[in-house]
Amino acid sequence: MDIILASRNKKKIGELKNIIEACGFTGKDAAVNIHTPDEFRHCEEVEEDGATFEANAVKKAAYIYECSGITAVADDSGLEVDALDGAPGVFSARYAGEVTDDWANLEKLLREMKDVPDEKRGARFVCCIALATRSGIKTFMGHVEGRIGTEPIGVKGFGYDPVFYPEGHNRTFGEMSDEEKSSMSHRGRALRELQTYLKEQGLIL
Ligand code: IMP
Repeated sequence: MDIILASRNKKKIGELKNIIEACGFTGKDAAVNIHTPDEFRHCEEVEEDGATFEANAVKKAAYIYECSGITAVADDSGLEVDALDGAPGVFSARYAGEVTDDWANLEKLLREMKDVPDEKRGARFVCCIALATRSGIKTFMGHVEGRIGTEPIGVKGFGYDPVFYPEGHNRTFGEMSDEEKSSMSHRGRALRELQTYLKEQGLIL
């Protein structure tokens, strides 16, 4: 079975790849071959101008499916912070400016929250995975609740990971291995929903 991951973010592709490979695709399509948009030079960058994670994920998956002809999986995700009325939300990648700069985004978040007390630092990561096949598009949501720290801790992961403490943990995502993060993350949860769907469809065991 061939799957194309509709993303150019290397860290994100790595996380998606690990989880998909761990799914154990079987049957006559015993192996899963993972492709990326770089293999299809004519596929362009998709503008993420939707008002929701779902709208952006659907747009990316539909476009990549159309231009590659391969079953496409797209992820759109971001951070919603209670004290900032849900910001940065769909603008998470571009919070500090048009060109994605993880460190600048994180610094801006900490600046905006410098006077917010501990009990009001609640936040969640949200992820929408869209699957585009010849039968149409399906979406799968996942989220993880947590809180925003006051300084970056940890060098693993990407984006806002060093300031995000998932609920029930006193370590940030930036301090966790990919496996530990995926076991509770928004992306891990959405992908497990996708896995359940693929099982129901008889595509994997
Ligand atoms: P997207 O490529 O439009 O989905 O951008 C998602 C943005 O949200 C990223 O650039 C990060 O800033 C943030 N984000 C999404 N998922 C994660 C995560 O797992 N860890 C840290 N930041 C994330």
